[in-house]
Amino acid sequence: MRKQLAIILAAAGILCGCQQKEQAFQYNVDKFYDLEILRYDVPEFESLTLQQKSLLYCLSEAALWGRDILFDQNGRYNLRIRRACEALYLNYPYSKDTEEFAAFERYLKRVWFSNGIHHHYSEDKFLPEFSQEWFVAACEQAGVEYDAAILPVMFDPAVMPKRMTAQDGLDLVANSAGNYYGEGVTQAEAEAWYAAHKDNSDEPLWIGLNSQLVKNENGEIVERVYKVGGLYGEALEQVVYWLKEALQYAENDQQREVIEKMIAFNETGDLRLFNEYCIAWVKDLDSRVDYVNGFTETYSDPLGITGTWESMVNFKDLAATKRTQAISDNAQWFEDHSTTDPKYKKEEVKGVTAKVITAAILAGDCYPATPIGINLPNANWIRKEYGSKSVTIDNLMHAYNEAAKGNGFNEEFMIDDEIRAIYEQYGALCGDLHTDLHECVGHGSGKLMPGVSKDALKEHASTIEEARADLFGLYYLADPKLVELGLLPNMEAYKAGYYQQMMNGAMTQLVRIEPGKDIEEAHMRNRQLIANWVLEHANGEVEIIKVNVQSDNGQCTKHYLRINDYEGVRRLYGELLAEIQRITSEGDYAAAKEMVETYAVKVNPELHTEILARYEKLNLAPYKGFVNPVYHVERNAEGEITNVTLDFTEGYIDQHLRYSRDYSPLPDVN
Ligand code: ZN
Repeated sequence: MRKQLAIILAAAGILCGCQQKEQAFQYNVDKFYDLEILRYDVPEFESLTLQQKSLLYCLSEAALWGRDILFDQNGRYNLRIRRACEALYLNYPYSKDTEEFAAFERYLKRVWFSNGIHHHYSEDKFLPEFSQEWFVAACEQAGVEYDAAILPVMFDPAVMPKRMTAQDGLDLVANSAGNYYGEGVTQAEAEAWYAAHKDNSDEPLWIGLNSQLVKNENGEIVERVYKVGGLYGEALEQVVYWLKEALQYAENDQQREVIEKMIAFNETGDLRLFNEYCIAWVKDLDSRVDYVNGFTETYSDPLGITGTWESMVNFKDLAATKRTQAISDNAQWFEDHSTTDPKYKKEEVKGVTAKVITAAILAGDCYPATPIGINLPNANWIRKEYGSKSVTIDNLMHAYNEAAKGNGFNEEFMIDDEIRAIYEQYGALCGDLHTDLHECVGHGSGKLMPGVSKDALKEHASTIEEARADLFGLYYLADPKLVELGLLPNMEAYKAGYYQQMMNGAMTQLVRIEPGKDIEEAHMRNRQLIANWVLEHANGEVEIIKVNVQSDNGQCTKHYLRINDYEGVRRLYGELLAEIQRITSEGDYAAAKEMVETYAVKVNPELHTEILARYEKLNLAPYKGFVNPVYHVERNAEGEITNVTLDFTEGYIDQHLRYSRDYSPLPDVN
C-alpha cells in the first residue's frame, strides 16, 4: 500500500536545520501541462560508509534497469511509441524552433512522466498537439523507422482511451489499455482463471502477482510469468545481475537473505520465494539501507491482482525515525482508544514498525511521480503473522514543501489569516504526522470478522481501506496523546491538518479532475468521501460558505471552507471511522458501495468550475514528479569501488534520454 501526496502543497513555513543549503539547492527543474518536475536532495549521504554507498549504488542500478517493464505494463505500444519519439527527437533534421516541435517535445516529456501515453493519475490517454501528418513527415525526413500500428494508438482518441477503467457495467479488462491481460481476454475469463487457480491455504501464494494472462491459439487462458527467461526476462536479468553485485555490500546476514530471495524469485518466478522474500524483508529492521524492487502494488491492474514494477532505494533517516518510533511504540494504545467497536479491534497489534527514510533513487512506478509513504508487504497473512514495514519519505516531502513556498495557493483558498497562520506554522508537521499515523497504525489497525474474505469489498476495497487509514490518522491528530508524546507542541496545531483535509477533500483536490469527469482514483475518492460525509453530517461544525470578494472586475462570490468547531469535526471523523471499520470488518459490500457512490465519486459541477478557474489563475501544476541524482562511481585497478558521489545537476530531458540509451533492454514487443 502506498500513501500519495494528499495535497497541492502550499507554502509551509517549517524551519529546519538545513536552511543554508536551501539557497544553493535547485528544487524546481521543469514545468509543462499539469506537471512540475522537482529535484530532491539526499541529505546525510556523505555520512554513510563506503560499504553502504556501494550498496546504494548497486541497488540503484537494479532499479534503473526495470524502467522498460513499467512502460510495457502500462500499454503494449508504449515502448514503440517512446522509442520512435526519442529517435525523432534526437535526429530531427530541421530547426527545433517551431510550434510543432515544441508541442512534440511536450508530448515526449509527458510520455516519460506517465511511463506511457495515458495520464499517470486520470488514466486518460493524452493526445498530441501536433498532427499525425507532421509526425509521419518528420520521421521520414529524420530516417526514423517505426511500426505504423502506433499511429492510431497515438492519434485516434477512440483507440485505447483509458489505461484503466473503473466504470461500473463495463468489462474492466477489455476496456483497459493496461497490458496486464493479452488481447482478447475478457474480465469474465480472467476472473474465472483466478478463481480456478486461487490458493486457499493458510499461507497462500499470490497467484497472478507476477504474470500476464493471455489467450493461447486454442483460446484458453494461460499465464506468462515475469521472470528471467520469461516475460520481461531481458530486464530482469539485468536487475538480477545488480542484485548479485549488491550482495557483497550487504550490511548483515538478514539483508543478504532478503537480496538472495529476491534474486531467486526473479530467476524462477516461484511465488513461494516471493513470500519468503517478503518475510525476510519484514524481519530486516537493523540495516540502514533498504529497498523495494519488483512487482508490488496492484492498483493499476483493473482486477487488482498483478503487481506493477517499481523500485525505491533508500536509507534510514535516523533523527526523524524517532518520531514514527514513538507512534509505533504506542500502537496498542491507539488501537484500544479508537472509536471503533471493540469487537473489530485487534487484541494484540504486533509488528508495526515505522521509520522515516531518505529516498536515494526512484524507479518504475515510483518515478517520476512517487508515493510519499509505503506500507508493505501487501499480503494480509504475512502482515498478520510477521508484521509489516511502513515508511515515510522525508526528503521528498521536504522537496515538495520547499518548491511550493510562496506560490499563492493558501491566499486563494484558505478562508482567513488566522487559519493561514496556523497552517504556515504547523501544516508541514501535521502532514508528516498524518502520514505516519496513516501508515504506521492506520493500515495495521482493526481486524476482519471470522469468515470475512479480504476481497469482500471488491472494487471499493482500496477506497474504503485508504479512508480507514486516513480517518484513523485524522482522529488521533487531535488527541492530547500526541502532545503528551512530544509530537505536537500544543492542542492548536492539529487544526492545520483538519482544515487542510476538509478543504482538500471537499474542494481543492478537484483541480486534478477535468471538467465533467468523475473521481476515479482510490486515494482521491477516499478524501472526498471523508470530507463530504463530514459536511453532510455536520450541524454547523463545518460548512462551505459563499463569500463576497472584491476582484479585478468588481464584486464576485467565492466558496470557502469554514470550520467553526474543530472538536466537533473530530467527533464526526470518529463516527465515520467506526462505520468504515464496521464495513471493513463485516465485509459489508452493499454499505461500501453506497458510501463510495454517495460521497466519493460525483463532483459538484459548479463548485468544480469555480475551483478550476481560481486555480488556473495561480498558474501552478497539480502533479509533481522528480529527477534522480546521478551516481558517480570510482573504482581502483582491481575494479573495487573506492568512492561513490551524487550529482544533482542533470535535467529532466537529459535524464530520460540517458535512461533510454543506457537502461533499455526490452524488445519493442514483449
Ligand atoms: Zn494508505
